Amino acid sequence: QNVYGVENWSAGYFDINSKGHLIARPAADDPRSLDLFELVNSLRDERKLHTPLLLRFPQILTNQLKKLATSYIQAIEEYGYQGRHLPVFPMKVNPRREVVEEFLKDSARFNVGLECGSKPELYAGLAQVQHPNSLLICNGFKDDSFIRLAMLGVEAGKNVVIVIEKLSELITTLNLADETGVMPMIGLRSKLYSRGSGKWASSGGDSAKFGLTTSELLDCVRLLKDRGRLSSLKLLHSHIGSQITEIKRVKMAMKEAARVYAKLRQLGTPIDTMDIGGGLGVDYDGSKTRFESSMNYTVQEFANDVVYTIKSVCDEENVPHPHLVTESGRMMTAYHAVLITSIRDEIETFADDKPEVTVDDDDPQVIVELKALCDGINRKNFTEFYHDALEHKDELHTQFNLGLISLEDRAKGEVLFWETCARALKEADGVKSPPEEFEDLRRILAAKYLCNFSLFRSVPDSWAIGQLFPIMPIHRLDEPLTDFATLVDVTCDSDGRIDKFVDLKDVREVLELHKWKPEEPYYLGIFLVGAYQEVMGSFHNLFGLPNEAHVVMDAEGRWHITKLIQGSKLGEMVAFARYDRAQLLANYKQQLEIRKQAGSLSDERLDQLALAYEAMISDTTYLSR
Ligand code: PLP
Repeated sequence: QNVYGVENWSAGYFDINSKGHLIARPAADDPRSLDLFELVNSLRDERKLHTPLLLRFPQILTNQLKKLATSYIQAIEEYGYQGRHLPVFPMKVNPRREVVEEFLKDSARFNVGLECGSKPELYAGLAQVQHPNSLLICNGFKDDSFIRLAMLGVEAGKNVVIVIEKLSELITTLNLADETGVMPMIGLRSKLYSRGSGKWASSGGDSAKFGLTTSELLDCVRLLKDRGRLSSLKLLHSHIGSQITEIKRVKMAMKEAARVYAKLRQLGTPIDTMDIGGGLGVDYDGSKTRFESSMNYTVQEFANDVVYTIKSVCDEENVPHPHLVTESGRMMTAYHAVLITSIRDEIETFADDKPEVTVDDDDPQVIVELKALCDGINRKNFTEFYHDALEHKDELHTQFNLGLISLEDRAKGEVLFWETCARALKEADGVKSPPEEFEDLRRILAAKYLCNFSLFRSVPDSWAIGQLFPIMPIHRLDEPLTDFATLVDVTCDSDGRIDKFVDLKDVREVLELHKWKPEEPYYLGIFLVGAYQEVMGSFHNLFGLPNEAHVVMDAEGRWHITKLIQGSKLGEMVAFARYDRAQLLANYKQQLEIRKQAGSLSDERLDQLALAYEAMISDTTYLSR
């Protein structure tokens, strides 16, 4: 089932076994694997955990961290670089405790720290970071209390760096330092002229939201000198945007950032660390190109180019090689989470409306002609007949609007039109290069499957920015694919649909699937959802969180469920929207009471209804079973 291109986007973490099931290899370089279909069945049958189901593989997090760290270690060795690599995990990418803790477990081995962009992230991060080498990088806009919180970290012995985004933050920090006698390390975020590429390119460049202009950088240095705090200036920060698709942008940005570092050193500042931000991409579509959902480089190439470029500039400028902080988040987390959903129904469209139609000479001319097109279509004339059918459909509706034909006539005409389209598409599939319009037709004729998940909760970037995620069935992969489909979610929002899919050749508007059988579960995996999706997901329609299972593989290749977390229930979601459960029940009972007073409800029925309403509070927000 090569159409899904698993080996292109899975980075070795997912594959297909001989049973036609999708498998996961949480440690990509270890050949042992676990069968995702069997896992999902077991969670359903033994733990009563249904879709939507988020599978989290902590070992993938560890493995990605190792991959990042070893790429830098290798580059540092190869180029004789004098500084060290210090990976920090940006909490905004996935602030879940289990994710953060998984990275921090390896603090000792890889000097892992955290990047915090807000007070709550810093509050959690401060207590979580334990290792003496770990950095706590504070980015984002800061008020007085953010800086006081950072100082609580300094007093607890943490390596806290306040990265100055605006001159006013430095003034506040210096004033608080004078007041409290506590001085954190200071970083300066530089607005680079260089920009990234892809969807997040506007994070860098002249009009970037964050960072100091060149004259503001110099103002900060002067201020630190004047206040006798220059020795605290330790880090230069830059970030040109997430998911950089072209490696040449990285090299350009590193050249510029290294030059700024060198010049600041030459001004007598003690900066010894360059924080290069995030931006290391993930190849979501497996195309290895510089297009938006991909990138044209590997992790090792990225690390090599960062290390080599910074070294070259520093050697030229005769300044020491700085330590390198990376804030890669997407690359570290994207692979570790998979959302499993299931097809629950098919949405009927005009194209599925196929009753038998008989046409005779008494029927309106437009219907007789549509019937002739439908019967006469063949390999030679299908494009022309398809165009004629489009015209006839317009004519049919014009005549209906003018009151010239009946509702029955309209129904007949529509059935004939869609049947003609289906036959035209069949003929188009038989020729070598069918006209492009037939790909649109394929999308229109494709089945629309209702899947048990909320796009807005679990894959928001698919809706918000049209990001591609690999989607494929996790079983029946040894059976031929016979159908084309688009997917819709369970929210009552027309935007809750997916009609862009990873394809071997190009992005496709339809997903190739097996024939869906209503009596059998059919599971689809939405992959690479571990970065940004969980935290950016919204509570649209109050659907809430999916069920969740944490899965690890032991040395014998057996899986273990280390944690199960039930998805949201009605009670939690109404409380989220600030309803009081007891009040809701009281209101409902009051309405029943009024009906009882009016004589339309018995005492017994009132009690039954009240109990039924109360019991629903612990129902799942998604389609059950
Ligand atoms: N650091 C900063 C300052 C960011 O703004 C971001 C995200 O855009 C990141 C790190 C994480 O970037 P990525 O997920 O591309 O590694």
